Amino acid sequence: MTLTPGVGERPSPHSAFGAHGSVLVINSGSSSLKYQLVNPVGGEAIASGLVERIGESDGVVAHTFAGNTTRRTGRVADHGDALRTALDLFGEVGPDLAEAQVVAVGHRVVHGGSRFSEPAIVDDDVLRAIADLSPLAPLHNPANLRGIEVARTLLPDVPHVVVFDTAFFQSLPAAASTYALDREVAERHAIRRYGFHGTSHQYVSGKVARALGRRLEDLNQIVLHLGNGASASAVRGGVAVETSMGLTPLEGLVMGTRTGDIDPAVVFHLHRNAGMSIDEIDTLFNKGSGVKGLSGENDFREIHRLVGEGDADARLALDVYIHRLRKYIGAYLAVLGRLDVLTFTAGVGENDARTRALAVAGLEGLGIAIDPERNEGRKTQPTIISPPWTSTLVMVVPTNEELAIARQAVAAIGGSSGEDDAGGDVDG
Ligand code: ADP
Repeated sequence: MTLTPGVGERPSPHSAFGAHGSVLVINSGSSSLKYQLVNPVGGEAIASGLVERIGESDGVVAHTFAGNTTRRTGRVADHGDALRTALDLFGEVGPDLAEAQVVAVGHRVVHGGSRFSEPAIVDDDVLRAIADLSPLAPLHNPANLRGIEVARTLLPDVPHVVVFDTAFFQSLPAAASTYALDREVAERHAIRRYGFHGTSHQYVSGKVARALGRRLEDLNQIVLHLGNGASASAVRGGVAVETSMGLTPLEGLVMGTRTGDIDPAVVFHLHRNAGMSIDEIDTLFNKGSGVKGLSGENDFREIHRLVGEGDADARLALDVYIHRLRKYIGAYLAVLGRLDVLTFTAGVGENDARTRALAVAGLEGLGIAIDPERNEGRKTQPTIISPPWTSTLVMVVPTNEELAIARQAVAAIGGSSGEDDAGGDVDG
């Protein structure tokens, strides 16, 4: 790409990388590449960046280090060009990657199918397996693969580790992972419930236990990951036993632009009676639905503003979203039998006190309630938002998928991330 002057200044050299080095975490999408250099021990992002519009003439690269963001614009030909530009920026504005002692590169991969229940060190066999799983995630796995391939070429001297979004949910019991579909058809086409956002659900449920100073094995948890994509999980003793996403990330909760659960016969109906192609329906369900399809907005700040102005569409969108969320809370209570902690995380879960309050309003009879004062505002630390008298704790715990990937990458190469956040650091 052509480099045009950036707005960032060269920050002073960063020296405190710690004894364990750092991990470069890469999340490669079809037209974007996100990266973060993470200290797996302290947990902080040393530097981060985003390359957007890969393959277009008006690509944008934003690299952030020491509070300064440096931008480059121009054509980013492909994923190799994207990563090369990012590495150039590490060289130009820092941090120096040699000084940062990168011990591993961690790659987020969306679909690990039934094969991967753990992270894996990248080799040719692993790359083949990810490619073979592409029919299950045609938009994601090929883009993830491209990122891994260019990163291996550009950073050949460090191990590369893949961390799968589906891995945490490989523990689902058959009753939860199986669709009531003809068995032979399902087996032939690998159709089952896989679950997604697993890295976040695993990280958050683990963090809950550490923040409370409790043993993970002793806790029955529900985690609500409410971002643009949204999913719920039921976790018993650290083991996932239910989750709301299925074969793909379309099933389950109402999301920013996705339907979540919908009668599959709607597909037949739209195809037969509205003349829509399968691709058109796919786009409609994934990109033109959810709260955006109902209200025109998928940002909850806008939805609340519109509701405040009396907008009926925004009101209905919020009502449908909350209704589905509450159904899942109730269902997962029944799955678990006893609930110790209900946790909100991700963009909406961490920042939107109103949505949190609506999600659990009137559930006192089930032992779930929120203290309005504790619930107020955005949360950047693990925080208890339930009143002292309830049997179930309600918490907000910020997710950190990059840190989770960095720590899993370190563990996969046999290192110890020496997590330094063990025990008792909880607000509320
Ligand atoms: P993604 O699924 O893209 O990773 P995030 O977890 O970053 O999404 O969540 C993004 C969403 O979080 C936004 O679309 C918006 O609805 C919501 N959000 C972010 N900040 C706030 C806020 N202060 N109040 C309400 N909602 C917020």
